Amino acid sequence: MDEILFPGEAAGAHAPAHPGLAQRLGALRANAAARLERLERNVDGLLFRWDDFKQTHRLRPSRFLAVALLTGVVSTAAVLYTPACAVIMDGQELGLVTTKAQVQAIEDRVEDRVSAILGRPYEMEDQVTLNWRVVNKRELTSPITLENALFNQVSEVTRGYVLTLDGQPIATQTTSQGLRDLIDSLKAPYVNENTIRAEFTTPLELHYEYVDVRQVTDDLSAVTALLTSNSVEPMIYTVQAGDTTSAIALRQDMSLSDLLAMNPGVEADKLWIGQELTVRQSVPYLGVRTVDQVTYEEVVEPPVEYVDDNTMYQGDSKVLEPGAEGLNQVTAQITYLSGQEDHRDILSTQVLTAPVTKVVAQGTKERPKTMPKGYFIWPVRGVITSGYGNRSLFGTRNFHGGIDIYVPTGTSVKAADGGTVITAEYNRSYGYYVVISHGNGKTTYYAHNSKLLVSVGDKVYQGQVIAKSGATGNVTGPHCHFEVRINGQRQNPRNYLP
Ligand SMILES: [Zn+2]
Repeated sequence: MDEILFPGEAAGAHAPAHPGLAQRLGALRANAAARLERLERNVDGLLFRWDDFKQTHRLRPSRFLAVALLTGVVSTAAVLYTPACAVIMDGQELGLVTTKAQVQAIEDRVEDRVSAILGRPYEMEDQVTLNWRVVNKRELTSPITLENALFNQVSEVTRGYVLTLDGQPIATQTTSQGLRDLIDSLKAPYVNENTIRAEFTTPLELHYEYVDVRQVTDDLSAVTALLTSNSVEPMIYTVQAGDTTSAIALRQDMSLSDLLAMNPGVEADKLWIGQELTVRQSVPYLGVRTVDQVTYEEVVEPPVEYVDDNTMYQGDSKVLEPGAEGLNQVTAQITYLSGQEDHRDILSTQVLTAPVTKVVAQGTKERPKTMPKGYFIWPVRGVITSGYGNRSLFGTRNFHGGIDIYVPTGTSVKAADGGTVITAEYNRSYGYYVVISHGNGKTTYYAHNSKLLVSVGDKVYQGQVIAKSGATGNVTGPHCHFEVRINGQRQNPRNYLP
């Protein structure tokens, strides 16, 4: 029996401070409880008698109440008892309500709920039967409880786990384990012990809700195949140092001819760093974005401090202090898209070893014009009539140690780079010729001139006119014979000219 509460007294409240008052309240409560119990016993006895009476007289509940009204327990019966109908579905009694209209209203609400889930009209029709009797009012069922009980009896809907991709249902099961395993298996390739977050780039979510039983499937193979598939999409690849077209094609799992077809104008053997190529990239149907929190050591290049030095020429430099690399401990969150690093956020940097500044002296003294610049310019401009290497001349094969550049007699011959004249003389085969030393064992020869404009020991600058061309020495016509020698060994001048 429920606890009987008096005004101002809450269930479980502390006893009143006054002991006499507490005793009186206790007595009152016991008295009231006993009275109510007696009343119920009386009515139960009446009902028991009425059950017998009903057997013989087939009395309707309303007639029973009329009879009850004439008895000594009229007021008690009216307060505690009521005719009611039991709502029965599939042989199961689901609850008790007092009017048929209530049942109808509840059925309507259940039908609306089921229709909304199925996406089509649903009628309960004759699935529900009613059984009238007199009951204690306490046994009555609240409308919402009965509605839920009735709804749960509908076999067309069930509670289930719905996997949705971008809000669209793609699989439904009555238990969650298989779907949870599928979700985990899609993330697993990208998750490691440092992963603090893993999510799909397209929302893949599991909802527990009422579903149409016809949507429930045991077989997840089709949805697994879809979610683990790849699509091939074009993307831009930026050429890195050491790349070749065939290596790029191999890496992207495409043929060289496909790669070239996708990049008209690109020559297979001519790539440059930073060049952008269109390639085919295999892209997961469902991308996974993961965030790893990692701590690693990072080498820090030493800062460089330049110090002016007016004893050195401009462009020259000398390391005064080598400095030293530093070492940092970095904690970062690295975001990956399906395993490819997207960006990293540095959370903290702790200096383990500070770098030592590198000090470099840089020259400020003006460089003399006659100093070699380290590269050559053409001594004259004209058609090359004979290249470097083996050739056939006058019917005999011989070796040509330079290049012949056709120019009319009297053309200005310029020093290919700055340096010192070490030879300026006539030779039977070279005619009037000049040799310039550029330092580091590097010399240049200018032969068959008509006139020399420099002498041994002269400092010359790059582009300075050192002779006028001609046809002296062993020649068939006017030209400039130009040679490049390294430590006396003749080189192909074309490898040194722009
Ligand atoms: Zn020659």
